[in-house]
Amino acid sequence: MSNERKFFVGGNWKMNGDKKAIDGICDFLNKGSLNSNTDVVVAPPYCYLQYSREKLSSKVQVAAQNCYTKKEGAFTGEISPAMIKDIGGTWVITGHSERRHIMGETDEFVAEKTRFAQDCGLGVIPCVGEKLEEREANQTMDVINRQMKALADKISDWSTVVIAYEPVWAIGTGKTATPEQAQEVHAQIREWLKKTVNADVAKATRIIYGGSVKGSNAAELAKKPDIDGFLVGGASLKPEFIEIVNAQG
Ligand code: PEP
Repeated sequence: MSNERKFFVGGNWKMNGDKKAIDGICDFLNKGSLNSNTDVVVAPPYCYLQYSREKLSSKVQVAAQNCYTKKEGAFTGEISPAMIKDIGGTWVITGHSERRHIMGETDEFVAEKTRFAQDCGLGVIPCVGEKLEEREANQTMDVINRQMKALADKISDWSTVVIAYEPVWAIGTGKTATPEQAQEVHAQIREWLKKTVNADVAKATRIIYGGSVKGSNAAELAKKPDIDGFLVGGASLKPEFIEIVNAQG
């Protein structure tokens, strides 16, 4: 990885945990030795975001798993980026594949959220990635370029964006992309940024990999030049998350 891009590891807790389980996670994170050259961010469920922030040391930042596109108003059940900031969150994940494919979020909606969250002062982790049938039909880059184009149409400041490449077939399935498969896509995303945005943005933007990352495969993936960190689901609930944070060696 280029030294210009600080390694970034996010833990997406999804809809898991209760106070007791979160106490345990915060405990191993606070006691663990975390590489200070890595940005470490965890995303608890909304209702535990402030609780987690209060329990965690300042070495760990806190993210929301989603947000809405308005500051406030009559949007029952939604949460605004301003509210996330107000309770101590500094990042938000947008366009996770579970939101795209279970909740039906479109590329445009994901891009709109991404821009709005940035404008409210949050760092944003937009996720892109292909489904298995799309990979098998050789459509991986068509899908990712389409998702990236929607983002690029809205984003003007890339300095607060960390792109997560998460092949849908690798999320929660135990099937990790090989380091070569992940590197190939990361390099193509970087090339796309170079052509579509500019060379400086392409060089500086962190592109992290997500999809069944574990303590046992993180170090090999981290060796690849365009893999700048990870977004971790299942393993972020376990002490092996520390190994992933420190995978860059
Ligand atoms: C995720 O939810 O972003 C993810 C990558 O999950 P897992 O690590 O469990 O595959």
